[in-house]
Amino acid sequence: MLFDTDPAATLERLRRETLSAQCPDAGPPVFGDGSPTARLALVGEAPAERDEATGRPFSGPAGQFLDQLLADAGLRREELWLTNVVKCRPIKVERGFARNRPPTQAEIRSWADELRQELEAVRPRVVLCFGATAAAALIKKGFKLSQERGHWFPGPAGSRAMATFHPAYALRLEGDDREAVRLVVLHDLREAARAASGD
Ligand code: URA
Repeated sequence: MLFDTDPAATLERLRRETLSAQCPDAGPPVFGDGSPTARLALVGEAPAERDEATGRPFSGPAGQFLDQLLADAGLRREELWLTNVVKCRPIKVERGFARNRPPTQAEIRSWADELRQELEAVRPRVVLCFGATAAAALIKKGFKLSQERGHWFPGPAGSRAMATFHPAYALRLEGDDREAVRLVVLHDLREAARAASGD
């Protein structure tokens, strides 16, 4: 096997491979985005509608919520690597409308090697998983977010990994519940950033 030594070149090759994939529902795949040498990688579940349109992960409502959290934590997207476990938007059609759905195990498996290569190229010190799907794919099967969020585990590509709530989950809540989850995610983001910076 040939290894690219330049993370940016490897990621560009993986990006081209990803974009040439045919998604089952015809939307374009969405590859990761950010700094090829990021110390902190944030991994979500799958692209949503807006992400397909922009070609960037986390560019819809969950992404705007995340951007505010990043600003509150003193982080900038450009210094992080943002990606998803699957690169095609999983949809179900309800009353003629395409709606997001969680990816199936088969979809997660079909992107697992791509995700592994992507994270091996970036080699972040820390991987923060958003939600149980990313945690089960990157930390361990059957990950229990309610019991194991905020704990450290060995992660992919020699990283340390932690999981927290998905920003989209916070958005589905209202009032005090949303604020409580927002504060937990902010806390975990700050912890992950601290560990990634070596403090
Ligand atoms: N957008 C993404 O890129 N990932 C998610 O998990 C949700 C929305």
